[in-house]
Amino acid sequence: VSERSSGFGDTVWTEFTPLALKHKAVNLSQGLPSIPVEDFIIDALRQQAQPGWQHQYSRASGFPRLVEVIADYYSPEYQRTLQPLTDVCITSGATQGLFLFFQTFVNPGDEVVIIEPFYDSYVPQVEMAGGVVKSVTLRPPKADLGRPATSADWVWDPAELEAAFSERTKAVVINTPHNPTGKMFSREELELVARLAQQHDALVLADGVYEMLTYGEEHLQIAALPGMWERTVTLGSAGKAFNLTGWKIGWAIGPQELVQPMQLTQQYIPFCVSTPLQHALASAWEQAIENGFFDRQRRRFLGKRERLMEILNDAGLQPCMPQASYFILADTSNVEFEAPSQAPFARDYDFCRWLTSEIGVAAIPPSCFYTEPNRHLGARFARFCYVKQDDEIEEAARRLPRLA
Ligand code: PMP
Ligand code: GLN
Repeated sequence: VSERSSGFGDTVWTEFTPLALKHKAVNLSQGLPSIPVEDFIIDALRQQAQPGWQHQYSRASGFPRLVEVIADYYSPEYQRTLQPLTDVCITSGATQGLFLFFQTFVNPGDEVVIIEPFYDSYVPQVEMAGGVVKSVTLRPPKADLGRPATSADWVWDPAELEAAFSERTKAVVINTPHNPTGKMFSREELELVARLAQQHDALVLADGVYEMLTYGEEHLQIAALPGMWERTVTLGSAGKAFNLTGWKIGWAIGPQELVQPMQLTQQYIPFCVSTPLQHALASAWEQAIENGFFDRQRRRFLGKRERLMEILNDAGLQPCMPQASYFILADTSNVEFEAPSQAPFARDYDFCRWLTSEIGVAAIPPSCFYTEPNRHLGARFARFCYVKQDDEIEEAARRLPRLA
């Protein structure tokens, strides 16, 4: 294998969903929704099963009707009229959108600032482009807050963020709402990123895949801050927005100067993304706007968030209330358990393997969301996903004893 691929092992996803299946555990690990897909989406997909052009290649950077829906949907958020053909590029999930961005803009030796913990694809993808990761860590909530912690209490040290930028900084990745904490970065935090990006002439990659999954607070687009449209590419995902993780359709939005080179690069990666799924998504999205799908989904997830918070509290874990997304990070440090240690050694891996095999509830060990030297920072926690059917969540409640 090439040097760039030689360091890869199995990801956390490759381990934990099969482990949950093996032990018949309630799978609260991977962000793998098990709630049924709504009928209007199934119908939109069913309509593709007929003769026609939808079975052939589409325009490389996106089926026109889909990029039009996306441009119309997002224009108000960016306070500008998005041009469907030049400001949007369809990708095979946001994961491929990340790859496309790094391949298009990062030269060997360029630095990319990333906030830890992070979605585990960021680092290998930057490195495959020859880039160098400069990471800045969000600190967990302090113990003496005097109130229950929320994801807003995960904060960076602004001086550390500032120090991560240099004349070699090509880009900064900001994921809001954030996986795994559920944090929504505040206006002040985004303004600091914006100021540093402008000062160092860096691009911003805004990973907004969980932007639809907010529960009261307004999602802020860093691209809509003054002077930021020109230097920001924002990623979205139908996997998260519509609960269709297997469709693998994502989108990148930005100014023509940035999106056009991505469109050109995209011709040489997948060429284009699955046409029938793009057709179906365009139709489903148009209907979703009419039928109130996004609000309905938020209300449904909010109930699940409340219930899983309660269950984790009852189990004696210390869950941190997420502002958005569909994950809860819980502090497990007061739980005593006996588990044989296996590689990779980290307490959270041992805890999550034990919880899956002995208790029958699967969760994700968050140390996989840190760079190697900082893995210990995730070791106190476990990440639970609540985009699951109510009876699965109740089964988790029945299985979880008082752990601490
Ligand atoms: N970014 C973040 C923060 C994520 O958690 C995920 C997880 N799916 C992705 C990107 C990738 O999204 P997709 O499934 O559309 O590739
Ligand atoms: N983003 C999803 C999660 O955090 C998983 C993505 C994947 O399976 N690669 O659970």
